[in-house]
Amino acid sequence: MDYEDAKILGIDYAMRGMAVFSENIKKEDAGYFRKSEERLAREQRKLSHCEKGSRNYFRQKNRVALCHEKIRNQRRDFLHKLSRRIADEYDVVAIEDIDMKAMSQCMHFGKSVMDNGYGMFRELLEYKLKWEGKEIIRVDRFFPSSKKCCKCGRMKKELKLSDRVYICACGNQMDRDLNAAINIREEARRMLLAG
Ligand SMILES: [Zn+2]
Repeated sequence: MDYEDAKILGIDYAMRGMAVFSENIKKEDAGYFRKSEERLAREQRKLSHCEKGSRNYFRQKNRVALCHEKIRNQRRDFLHKLSRRIADEYDVVAIEDIDMKAMSQCMHFGKSVMDNGYGMFRELLEYKLKWEGKEIIRVDRFFPSSKKCCKCGRMKKELKLSDRVYICACGNQMDRDLNAAINIREEARRMLLAG
């Protein structure tokens, strides 16, 4: 493949919203998750009012389990469609080489890391890319994707997790995750062209 013209997508892992892409990727409206989650919360509330061990309790417990299953299925369906769209459209996908398990343990983010589906999304995406003979590039986890300005290359000494917007002396003002995703894309391009 001629990497000069390769369509490369950079992906940055995001605590909120799972992932941020360097390009504008249309995501299905996630509103239907919210509906299911509201329903789940309602059913869980009802469960908490049932007398433990009663027949109503078990019936309600079953309802809660079904809600969980529905949400799992919706999420999987959503991730399948999203990864399919990306694998169809891009030649190369660049991600950070992060170890999801280690990350969730050492950052105590366990629940949100696993729940937001990023691990599953990565798996589905890798599988589909491989299937189409496309490439996934892992950018070194020590590459400073968050601290670097994607417009001018300046490095910030410090960037707090609470800094949601990347602001640079060159005038660049950008969502921090988008800035990182673009850096990841460009680092992958550099790696590819360097051979
Ligand atoms: Zn800059």
